[in-house]
Amino acid sequence: MAAMERPSRRFRPVSGNVLPRFAGIPTFMRLPHVNLEDAADDIDIALFGIPWDGGTTNRPGARHGPRQMRDLSTLMRNVHHVSGLQPFELANCADIGDTPVNPIDLEDTLARVERFVGEIHAKNITTLAAGGDHLVSLPILRAIGGDDVGMVHFDAHTDTWDRYFGESRYTHGTPFRRAIEEKLLDPKRIVQIGIRGGLYTPEDKEWGLAQGIRVIEIEEVFDLGVEGVVREARRVVGNGRVYVSFDVDALDPVYAPGTGTPEIGGMTTVQAQGMIRGLRGLDLVGADVVEVAPPFDPSGNTALVAVTMMFELLCLLAECHGRFSKKS
Ligand code: MN
Ligand code: MN
Repeated sequence: MAAMERPSRRFRPVSGNVLPRFAGIPTFMRLPHVNLEDAADDIDIALFGIPWDGGTTNRPGARHGPRQMRDLSTLMRNVHHVSGLQPFELANCADIGDTPVNPIDLEDTLARVERFVGEIHAKNITTLAAGGDHLVSLPILRAIGGDDVGMVHFDAHTDTWDRYFGESRYTHGTPFRRAIEEKLLDPKRIVQIGIRGGLYTPEDKEWGLAQGIRVIEIEEVFDLGVEGVVREARRVVGNGRVYVSFDVDALDPVYAPGTGTPEIGGMTTVQAQGMIRGLRGLDLVGADVVEVAPPFDPSGNTALVAVTMMFELLCLLAECHGRFSKKS
């Protein structure tokens, strides 16, 4: 068959008025599942899973996150109820499936994810990833990061720890130390929001502060309130390129119990939504939502919370795409 000129295709979620929301094969936000090779020229924002938890040091399960998140994401709709943003009208969004992973080889998985995300990035497609444990942010940043990239990081943990069991440098507690060492992020333009919980040693806290990271511990989040945190986060990241990484354990475990390393005394879902909305207008290069571990929350509520944060982020990415993207 002769090669044909491919028409530009619009991808939109299947309406709940056409196919009931509980029916059909679940994809992220009910978007078409498309092959990157077949549709790269058409896609503006790629949603994908990274079903891998080989960086988890304690309670595994985040490898099952993307599948449950896809299921619960069928509850999302088209219009943001506060901003009025319609991400699927602003940008061509698609579910491109899961990255390749190797469940028994950490370094091989990091290489596979980096290669996959690198291919997306090379085609000027914005990435919105669903983890997986938090180590998956490292290969994403290896593909799209740089020393001009800042980060807004929601988490109970700084994830700037150094080593585990002596010499292991790659765990879900170390991705951002490695990213800073590899100059994939500008530490002076990183803000970490919601940090709490005990440490192994005082040095765990000091290293990040010494790099210039702005750490807003949960007590300060409550003192500043949503508006104050947003003001401070925007001051820190400024006008340059910004990545957003959202670890569901930033939320109090009453909202997100399905995660590997829960810490009590966290933020509420409403506060987190408010803080993400406050990032509107930043030059966002991509985002991820990680650490959903369905075995610890078979109800699916943690996954629902996580995909709702994905929808909040998608609204910002889609608007940003129109303002900053190199694509027409
Ligand atoms: Mn984390
Ligand atoms: Mn965490």
